[in-house]
Amino acid sequence: MGMKKKMAGLMALSMMAFGVMAGCGSAQNSSTQDGGAPAEGGTLRMGTNATFPPYESVDENNKVVGIDADIAQVIADKLNMELEIINMEFDALIPALGAGQIDFAMAGMTAKPERAEQVDFSTSYTTGIQVIIVQEGSDITTVEDLKSKKVGVQTGTTGDEYCSDDLGEDHVQRFESGIVATQALVNGQIDAVVIDNEPAKAYVEANEGLKILDTQYAVEDYAAAIAKGNTEMYDKINGVLEELKADGTIDKIIAEYIHE
Ligand code: GLN
Repeated sequence: MGMKKKMAGLMALSMMAFGVMAGCGSAQNSSTQDGGAPAEGGTLRMGTNATFPPYESVDENNKVVGIDADIAQVIADKLNMELEIINMEFDALIPALGAGQIDFAMAGMTAKPERAEQVDFSTSYTTGIQVIIVQEGSDITTVEDLKSKKVGVQTGTTGDEYCSDDLGEDHVQRFESGIVATQALVNGQIDAVVIDNEPAKAYVEANEGLKILDTQYAVEDYAAAIAKGNTEMYDKINGVLEELKADGTIDKIIAEYIHE
């Protein structure tokens, strides 16, 4: 119940954010996280797409919270920098890195070869699984069953890529977030949603009548992305991430959000 309320608020907020974004050219909504005095090391700008709980979502104070936000905060602290989180659409993150608008992206982003042509990926800090959300009572039980259906995805994600490749464009409908895709599933406009497992759990929790299939579509590695060739930033971010993996900080942060 509490969770459902939170998600409803989250949906309203994220839809508002996207409404604003649709109206103006620059799809950004930025906020510094702790509002304290500027850190000596300057500002560290992290790009994300805060529609992806528990990795990133917007809380009732319009603050970006979640696993990636917490990890990024520790990275900034270690570098003696002030963290600024810039919220944008998922498919805007790689272009924003290229344009120098952000220093790194953390967004439950899958490190995959095609993206690695445009950005440099840090060491992977955790794993994600592409899963299939359907309505309870759906006749869909396997990936194969999706071939005759309409599947919702978040634009530019790996779920989008797999479904477009495997099912063909005619069977894929793109949405600006998994939350909006899930809404379309609830309304019966589409037959399934393919998205990462942890956000999928949050969306299913927040809506009546949905379930996640046991069949896994793909297992992936999440990593931070840094602009291609920015070795100075890469070494900073990757260096701290390696340290946080080794000393158990990453596991500790993840365990605060994901209870298995
Ligand atoms: N892991 C998926 C990808 O990298 C989805 C990420 C997201 O939507 N935030 O494409």
